[in-house]
Amino acid sequence: VNVAVLKETAPHELRVALVPSVTEGLVKLGAKLHMQTGAGKASRFPDESYQDVTFFADRATLLAEADVVLAVQPPSLDVIDAMKEGAILICFVYAGHEHPLVKRMLEKKITCFAMERIPRITRAQSMDALSSQSALAGYYAVQLGATHMARVLPKITTAAGAIGPAHVLVMGLGVAGLEAVATAHRLGAVVEGYDVRPDTEEQVLSLGATFVETGVDAQGSGGYARELTPAEKTKVAAVLTTHIQQSDLIITTAAIPGKPSPKLISSAQVKGMKAGAVIVDLSAEGGGNCDDTVPGQTTEIGLVTIVAPLNVPSLLAQDASELYAKNQFALLKLMLKENVITVDWTDPVIAGTVLTHAGKLSAGVVKPSAP
Ligand code: NAD
Repeated sequence: VNVAVLKETAPHELRVALVPSVTEGLVKLGAKLHMQTGAGKASRFPDESYQDVTFFADRATLLAEADVVLAVQPPSLDVIDAMKEGAILICFVYAGHEHPLVKRMLEKKITCFAMERIPRITRAQSMDALSSQSALAGYYAVQLGATHMARVLPKITTAAGAIGPAHVLVMGLGVAGLEAVATAHRLGAVVEGYDVRPDTEEQVLSLGATFVETGVDAQGSGGYARELTPAEKTKVAAVLTTHIQQSDLIITTAAIPGKPSPKLISSAQVKGMKAGAVIVDLSAEGGGNCDDTVPGQTTEIGLVTIVAPLNVPSLLAQDASELYAKNQFALLKLMLKENVITVDWTDPVIAGTVLTHAGKLSAGVVKPSAP
């Protein structure tokens, strides 16, 4: 079974879908590994660091032989055109039925497994790339915040006097938010967490932080949150304003599946923040959690800074690729055995992750899923 790994072409994408530590396992399953020359370079994995991989400078040759193509970002249409009919593609897709990429995959009868569709169930945790990448982003949000602040996170005592710890507020306590809480706590800040799902209270307390109780429960289905009603928004804002004003660093990560990022911090609330305070908005990709967020940019509003990076996992490309490649390896292990691809369509992980197969779109894929 020929497995091909592409060099990513999306702007600012530095990750790669195969790392040296995973090649041995794939070869044991029977894979013949082919990579595009220099595919790992941007994530600091030079070609020489890969064992048992044949490199191809020419992408068309690489794709023409491939039974399975691994990538991080959705590939361009010409990649689909260059693939064998009926071949397997595994990558993030983030697109619905009307998207040209999906249409082309249907025409070409590509079997596409979309990494964002991995079910959030215990058995699939090792394949859950959304979680592995979010955990790294949550950690990095604290680092980004710290470098934009003109003050320190921990209490520091000197002969000239002591500086108190910074106050950090994390809004949205999913995978990224909880990692941000843990990181800020480790760095010595006083940390508070807020979410609309009540389950998160216990999780945030176990990480040494406190929970901001707003009296609103917006637990949705499948462990996700639902949108707040206008009355709930007012109730939440009344409680949060004080916490926002007291914070030196706020990290926002709130997301609702299939919807734009909920707005958690208004322009008026930003005006009330401390001079020198920093917001890191990890939801910039979905439009951002602050009225003043400009996705992809760092904005100064008075003496408050809003940092809204896009594709944060790519900024940690080496570790992000390491985890992403392991997620893909775990998924491939379900279907690649003794040199043969056998797909068990009754397996809920397979059935949940497949997007297109044999010219048919998975049931329920009607509109683009939110990033
Ligand atoms: P996400 O990225 O969808 O959302 C981030 C957080 O924002 C969520 O905690 C959500 O409740 C919160 N949020 C939404 N609207 C908000 C608002 N108005 N104010 C404050 N917070 C708001 O979340 P995620 O990291 O993808 O995790 C989603 C769920 O999936 C969680 O329950 C998580 O524990 C669960 N999960 C389960 C598994 C598994 O069992 N294998 C793996 C990963 C995640």
